[in-house]
Amino acid sequence: MSTMYYDKLYVGGDWNAPLGTEVIPVISPTTEEQIGSVPLGTERDIDAAVDAARTAFDAPDGWSRWEPSRRAEVLNRFADELEARGAETASRVSQQNGMPIVVAEMFEAGFPALLVRYYAGLMVEVPQEEIRPGMLGGASLVRRDPVGVVAAIVPWNVPQGITFLKVAPALAAGCTVVLKPAPETVLDAFLMAEAAVAAGLPAGVLNIVPAGREVGAYLVEHPGVDKVSFTGSTGAGRAIAETCGRLLRPVTLELGGKSAAIVLDDADLVSNIEKFFAATLLNNGQICWLGTRVLAPASRYAEVLDTITGLASSLVVGDPADRGTQIGPVVSQRQRERIEGYIAKGSSDGARLTTGGGRPASRDRGWFLEPTVFGDVDQNHTIAQEEIFGPVLSVISYTDEAQAVQIANNSDYGLGGSVWTEDPERGVAFARNVQTGTIGINGYMNDPTAPFGGIKSSGIGREFGPEGLAAFQQFKTVYLDAEVATKAGWV
Ligand code: NAD
Repeated sequence: MSTMYYDKLYVGGDWNAPLGTEVIPVISPTTEEQIGSVPLGTERDIDAAVDAARTAFDAPDGWSRWEPSRRAEVLNRFADELEARGAETASRVSQQNGMPIVVAEMFEAGFPALLVRYYAGLMVEVPQEEIRPGMLGGASLVRRDPVGVVAAIVPWNVPQGITFLKVAPALAAGCTVVLKPAPETVLDAFLMAEAAVAAGLPAGVLNIVPAGREVGAYLVEHPGVDKVSFTGSTGAGRAIAETCGRLLRPVTLELGGKSAAIVLDDADLVSNIEKFFAATLLNNGQICWLGTRVLAPASRYAEVLDTITGLASSLVVGDPADRGTQIGPVVSQRQRERIEGYIAKGSSDGARLTTGGGRPASRDRGWFLEPTVFGDVDQNHTIAQEEIFGPVLSVISYTDEAQAVQIANNSDYGLGGSVWTEDPERGVAFARNVQTGTIGINGYMNDPTAPFGGIKSSGIGREFGPEGLAAFQQFKTVYLDAEVATKAGWV
């Protein structure tokens, strides 16, 4: 394994001395010990990074002017270099945020390379110019241009997967990027920079400045930035949206969630228990789309609650580096205290704790929490309305499908969700009535080819699929009147 102590930043295509003097120490949530450090980026580092990205975008022979196939060659090399570092990337993520290693291998090892190849290929396959015969005579040339310099700001929970939902389509489209990783997970971003150097990404196409929220806000507001792509909490998203609104700067926001997992009365939860675990508790409960409000039919409430309680109490809680671990520590001490606050609130509001609720006795170090289930939860309880972002499920009873739809939609959020049934058509029919950006039947797993994103307080815009590429493009129309279009041979 290469060093996890860095003293330079990847800006302008090379490793450069940072312009500040402070560092970000990276603390393991498992051992509470320091495992690495990187320079803390400053506003001056952001200035240098935006300048480099601007030059790489604007130069007459810059990245934005290259043919998609030429960019694809470089991006495919980048994908190879990322893949070569996949195992170490997964390990670093797991060490930094407590993600169980088998989950890290799924989301963080091969996935970035897959996205880079997908978007590089899509840009080559799909023509970026189209001639449309007009209704009023003449014709129009409709082009998709890269939007410009992109500020990409990402959270710590799935750091590389989320980074490449932005970086892969942005670079393929011809944009250049300044990436600001979350301070909790920076070591994976430095491995990514090593891959960029090895692949020979042209100078300034990708720049990485790790820093906290103030420097993030400075980046959002920077006059050299053309588009902001943000994933994180709804509170930060609102602040960023306000800035972008004032500046009329395009912005994509992937924010929080409180999705519903709706168990219909014919569901076979026991046979689907692994998929149910993945849809509700994966990554220690720290994924935005998890179905943390479980809706169970009154006719089978006790049995469904028992099954979910049994699942949660059987999960292996431990060192995220162990392949058998299903639940690792949560990311930080602050996050554990926040989750414990919600658990106390659930009990004081009258919900019934059926398992968990405390810290596992077997772990005297690390920010571990027992997987926790509440029964008898009212749909308006705080634990049924606010995003907890930890291994805590709330099970709510409903009387009939109409009430299940009402409860599912009684949320400020609308990001993910799942319907559990033995009848796929019934599941899809129910899914149509749920106000959400995405939803699965008997499971939840997003796919690179289909748009992902939220409605209501879960965000604005979409990632994944051709829609995720379009987020980094803007249309330009060139009109030709009938005479000119005829001369050009367009009509
Ligand atoms: P956070 O909002 O605190 O931070 C996310 C990132 O934004 C970090 O890099 C942080 O430094 C930066 N940041 C914070 N405030 C900022 C500001 N005002 N201006 C610019 N940058 C700012 O979120 P977090 O605690 O790191 O992540 C957890 C949250 O992210 C949860 O709410 C979760 O649901 C959400 N999330 C959403 C998705 C999605 O796709 N919808 C995916 C993963 C996580």
